[in-house]
Amino acid sequence: MEALRAEMEAYAKAHHVPILNEHGRRFYAEFVRQAQPHRILELGTAIGYSALLALSLASADCTVETIELLPERYETAKAFLARSPLGRRVTQHLGDAGDMLDVLREQGRTYDFIFIDAAKGQYPDYFEKATPMLEQGGVIVADNVLFRGYVLHPVMMPRRFETIVERLQRYLELANTPPYTTKIYPRGDGLALTRRK
Ligand code: SAH
Ligand code: MG
Repeated sequence: MEALRAEMEAYAKAHHVPILNEHGRRFYAEFVRQAQPHRILELGTAIGYSALLALSLASADCTVETIELLPERYETAKAFLARSPLGRRVTQHLGDAGDMLDVLREQGRTYDFIFIDAAKGQYPDYFEKATPMLEQGGVIVADNVLFRGYVLHPVMMPRRFETIVERLQRYLELANTPPYTTKIYPRGDGLALTRRK
């Protein structure tokens, strides 16, 4: 398990796959430990790293449903997950996270832990689509909400980041509108932990 995770970290580094960074990992692990979720929904599988990390810390009945847009990443995740017994508790979906959220919602699925880590410009949309599936007492974790610091301090920001940064600011607004409250953990690229009151 440790060896597999180390191999995945090395793979991500070599192939420039943006998995949770060192700080992000530590906070994410802490959120999972505290929440002790049973049904996790993850947007942005990448190579399966955060899914495995979560399952290694959650209860033995915990499952993860995870969505990835890129076929190559989906396949790489499948291969890595097949090498851990925890992988059996992961259901992978290939497709656009926004579209898949509609499908899952129509199927009447609910989750007690939702991890948003797919297209940064889509976070407000993900929030609107995911919250109806969030159970009482459930939490939403979002990665990269500070986007290199520009979300709180958009000084000297390259024009090409304008839309993403605006959307992330909008996300944080939504996530701080009752009944939701959000705490931002500024280490790493910024993680937001949202609870429903
Ligand atoms: N959660 C992973 C990292 C995810 S990186 C971990 O920490 O281990 C973000 C992933 O989201 C990338 O693999 C990217 O291909 C995927 N992605 C980007 N846009 C997407 C979309 N519209 N729908 C689903 N996945 C998307
Ligand atoms: Mg991320």
